[in-house]
Amino acid sequence: MTSFRVGLLGATGAVGQKFIRFLENHPWFQITALGASKRSAGKPYAEASNWIESTPMPESVKQLEVLESKSDLFKDVDFVFSGLDSSVATEIEGDFAKAGIPVISNAKNYRTDPTVPLLIPEINPDHIDLIHEQRFTKDGSGWIVTNPNCVAVPLTTSLKPLYDAFGIESVVVTSMQAISGAGYPGVPSLDIMGNVIPFIGGEESKIRQEPLKLLGKLKDGAVRYADFPVQATATRVPVINGHLLSVTVSLKRKADQDEIINVMKSWGSPIHDLDLPSTPKFPLKVFDDPRYPQPRLHADSEGGMQTAIGRIRKAQVMDVSYIAMAHNTVRGAAGGAVLNAELLVRKGFLK
Ligand code: NAP
Repeated sequence: MTSFRVGLLGATGAVGQKFIRFLENHPWFQITALGASKRSAGKPYAEASNWIESTPMPESVKQLEVLESKSDLFKDVDFVFSGLDSSVATEIEGDFAKAGIPVISNAKNYRTDPTVPLLIPEINPDHIDLIHEQRFTKDGSGWIVTNPNCVAVPLTTSLKPLYDAFGIESVVVTSMQAISGAGYPGVPSLDIMGNVIPFIGGEESKIRQEPLKLLGKLKDGAVRYADFPVQATATRVPVINGHLLSVTVSLKRKADQDEIINVMKSWGSPIHDLDLPSTPKFPLKVFDDPRYPQPRLHADSEGGMQTAIGRIRKAQVMDVSYIAMAHNTVRGAAGGAVLNAELLVRKGFLK
């Protein structure tokens, strides 16, 4: 297997650090260039970043000089991951794609672009063909692929078996989102300690829209979105890692609880046989014990790449209710993007 030289934009942020940790011993990808803002540029990474991961900073990045996030400074990389702040991602990611450098992004900016794949490899791997519709470069060498919002990942992964087996009429979801989802330093401690904040700006529209693109069908070079309403309430809770969701679904074809549980438990990932380094063995874990899943106990399962669900039960309104949970900065950000890149390698888009 070829080894890829990888650039990392937003390297100093919470997601950027998770990328560095996640890629530390990756068999295919090696970080060779780090980018951030002018504030960090010119400094060795060890000085520019306030390391918040619980394992030591890898030696391989400590002395790398942080660069300004400009494409002409990243000529020697095969592609870049982006954990850029959304206030700058449109311009910077577009600049890299136009320079012929593929971008695999966490930021929201290009997720709804009709030519940009919004990708969860286990859910919609065929959507990567949208890349052929992009026009950043004449020869097709520069393109952008995005991964979804960190709530949309467990929500869509848990909806997929239901959508395929029964069809979906509507969804009501309340998220209890971890503090790490707000980046660093994020939410002030006096706001979040012993408290719940019942609003996260800009979050609910992403939770409403992204599952519909992810569950959509690719036809004639465009995604036909799934068509059902999602009512979302996003809250911030004093948890470090792991977004937990309470989900209630109305199904098109009615089914009893046993059939629903059976469909959830027997769902298999379509990319299982591709043997990608970061694929979890079980992308969707169903707990029978009603106390689970819990963020502190299960966010790190399968390296943080698993979506866990539990408490599947008949709903008194609509049809079925359950709890879903995934690690927001791993499965919902850096790990999800790395898995996207692995799929892009296997499918020949990254060579
Ligand atoms: P963060 O901790 O605030 O980090 C932001 C990064 O962007 C830093 O590296 C920062 O560099 C860089 N940056 C800011 N302004 C810049 C500029 N003008 N030019 C170049 N770089 C600039 O945020 P985060 O939580 O890591 O999130 C990063 C992205 O991932 C966001 O788009 C976010 O929405 C998305 N995301 C986050 C999560 C999560 O759970 N946290 C999940 C999914 C997606 P400096 O240090 O030099 O300022």
